[in-house]
Amino acid sequence: MSKIKNNDEFILKVNDIFYSIQGESSFAGSPCFFVRLAGCNIRCPYCDTKEALTDTNAKSMHIGDIMTEIIKCGENVKLVEITGGEPLIQKGVYELMKRFLNLKYTVLVETNGTLSLKSIPDKVVKIMDIKCPSSGYANYNNFENLNYINKNDELKFIIGNTADYEFAKNFINVNRKIIKTEKIIFGAVDVAENQFSPHILAEKILSDRLNVKIGLQLHKFLDLK
Ligand code: SF4
Repeated sequence: MSKIKNNDEFILKVNDIFYSIQGESSFAGSPCFFVRLAGCNIRCPYCDTKEALTDTNAKSMHIGDIMTEIIKCGENVKLVEITGGEPLIQKGVYELMKRFLNLKYTVLVETNGTLSLKSIPDKVVKIMDIKCPSSGYANYNNFENLNYINKNDELKFIIGNTADYEFAKNFINVNRKIIKTEKIIFGAVDVAENQFSPHILAEKILSDRLNVKIGLQLHKFLDLK
């Protein structure tokens, strides 16, 4: 008798599926489908997707149903971002990436960088955080992941204060020979009481002649998800 295949890997806990403007990478400004998976392995103070940190309100969905939901929204846009929470905590995420690649989508994966990127298919664009000190999770950075970042991938530092800025600048200097991408983003923190404004961040980037982009979460300026 043939063994029944356990297909748990084809079911994902989904917090949300939506269509919006990509706001936080070198794809910022492009219409994009988003699959927001539920659950995260850490708790950053600046998190703006708290509703996705656990799977309490998540929907369990077969990968085929996730894809159908996106395809039926329109076939002109072939850009999809898999995000979270932390998408890599669910083993089925790799199958989801492969299926979108097979349909010729450009696939972005946004990850907090604490888990290994080793199993992500080469063609997927990885947007990986390097956690700065003010996040409280700088010790969770998985430095081996720099080996899996190629020239199409992106590194993102969320800069909450001067110490974060210096950490990020130093990180780039120290790892200059290992980092294979020039797509590096310094993201401003979106909290009202933030003393380190996007303006200050921009001035520092300019005065230090850093070859990095400033990230401003364009979708929030547009009042979109
Ligand atoms: S890694 Fe991302 S989803 Fe998880 S707590 Fe930090 S900001 Fe939120």
